[in-house]
Amino acid sequence: MTILEKFDVTCDVICVGGGLAGLAAASRAAQLGLKAVVLERGGDELYACNSRYAGGVMHVSYNNPKSPPDVLTAAMTEISGGHADAALVNAIATQAGRAVEWLRDEGARFARAGDIGWRQWILAPLRPAVTQMEWKGRGADVALRTLEKNLRERGGILHRGTHVVDLIFENGCCAGVKARQADVEKVFCAPAIVLADGGFQGNAVMAGEYLTPDPQRVKQRGAGTGLGDGLRMARAAGAAVSTLDAFYGHVLSCDAMHNDRVWPYPQLDELAAAGLLVNRQGRRIADEGMGGVYLANLIARQPDPLGTFVVFDEAIWQGPGRAAAIPPNPTLLGAGGTLHKADTLDQLAALMGVDAHGLAATVREYNEALTSSATSTLQPPRSARRRTPFPFARAPFYGAPACSGLTYTMGGIRINGNAEVLRADGTVIRGLYAAGATTGGLEGGPAVGYVGGLIKALTFGLLAAEHAVRVQENLSKGI
Ligand SMILES: Cc1cc2nc3c(=O)[nH]c(=O)nc-3n(C[C@H](O)[C@H](O)[C@H](O)COP(=O)(O)OP(=O)(O)OC[C@H]3O[C@@H](n4cnc5c(N)ncnc54)[C@H](O)[C@@H]3O)c2cc1C
Repeated sequence: MTILEKFDVTCDVICVGGGLAGLAAASRAAQLGLKAVVLERGGDELYACNSRYAGGVMHVSYNNPKSPPDVLTAAMTEISGGHADAALVNAIATQAGRAVEWLRDEGARFARAGDIGWRQWILAPLRPAVTQMEWKGRGADVALRTLEKNLRERGGILHRGTHVVDLIFENGCCAGVKARQADVEKVFCAPAIVLADGGFQGNAVMAGEYLTPDPQRVKQRGAGTGLGDGLRMARAAGAAVSTLDAFYGHVLSCDAMHNDRVWPYPQLDELAAAGLLVNRQGRRIADEGMGGVYLANLIARQPDPLGTFVVFDEAIWQGPGRAAAIPPNPTLLGAGGTLHKADTLDQLAALMGVDAHGLAATVREYNEALTSSATSTLQPPRSARRRTPFPFARAPFYGAPACSGLTYTMGGIRINGNAEVLRADGTVIRGLYAAGATTGGLEGGPAVGYVGGLIKALTFGLLAAEHAVRVQENLSKGI
């Protein structure tokens, strides 16, 4: 039997979720003098969340977050194909640099990767260049522990094992949450609630509705702790929601479905974006030039998400195949991933179980279109928007059975530049904020624009806290 306990109104800000967005919001609010509480569903000391598992690269659409705002605005606008909400783009463009400095001042350590512009702010200690999940004691994990410690020292608290299930409203303003701790239901009250529950990638029903016909055939490339609770609660409160049909993820070896050594890395993105992505009929399924995040989405949308193959030639295997920080050449084979290799296309098709006539026709059309610079006439067209096409020419030829790795959902709760939750008519739901992967409007869209999960979580976590502080200061002054 559940017991309902009403807590005294002792806190000023409640953050739903203890990932980077929730902990940054709570720690910042506490730093500015508010009593902040984080309610986190995970019960372990080092509870799972995407923030803890992250590689730790703080970037803005592959730019240094401290780049001038006009550079960051242009990058986000370009990558989203103009889809991104201008107010959110502006918030990131103007605040991301300050946000990384704040995190450093909080005690998080950063390293840089040589002169690579977008890898100047990587949470340290760096994760090792290994294919499997390796997070304990690494930069992102240490940053979360540091934020929790700071929160505690400032009088705040993180309650583990606390699953928020409902929002509470008083006089039209969000005023608290209902949460379950084991079989006890509790009410926590505060004039500011920040939803920071990390997206809906772990909710198979929602993933099936918006992202893929078969969620069981898509690899959960992360903690899988985002269950869509924030989105559900915000919607019930009248919040507007962005399009929900895109996610951040990567093309992985199909073996990731059963072999933990081949995920979260190597990503097969660079191979797919230089070569061809085909189905069992040997036909291309997408514009490979749009890059790996886009291709991961297209794979997930196939009727059979486990029926696609990345095919490429020796030049690609020796070139783009070696390009990433944890490149598929050689780590895919080292980790036990499947890679078919053959001297002829017919042999390759047979090894993959792909229609040989279809594959031969696809490769012929593709090479001809490349030679005559007519790749836009291919079906689907082949652009060079994010990656340049390579001819499929030099044996041996390769084929890797692929799957889609789903890291976090890009669509979600609509917010403004202060992280306040919006209704469809553009008015704010007072007292309700959202930050991180539970929000929408910045990333996604038809081009599957990617800005960066960590910088989005950090920046909007800070902005939510700072706005809540301003509102409560004004109230105390009677403004
Ligand atoms: C392997 C991997 C590598 C990555 N590398 C990078 C990178 O290098 N750079 C980058 O920018 N991004 C990266 N990302 C993405 C990035 O980690 C996320 O986008 C970001 O951390 C999201 O933060 P968040 O706080 O919104 O969500 P999370 O970190 O997922 O936190 C949400 C928290 O909310 C809790 N929660 C959920 N529902 C409830 C509820 N109802 N009540 C209470 N608590 C709840 C969850 O348990 C979880 O702890 C990576 C992700 C992965 C998995």
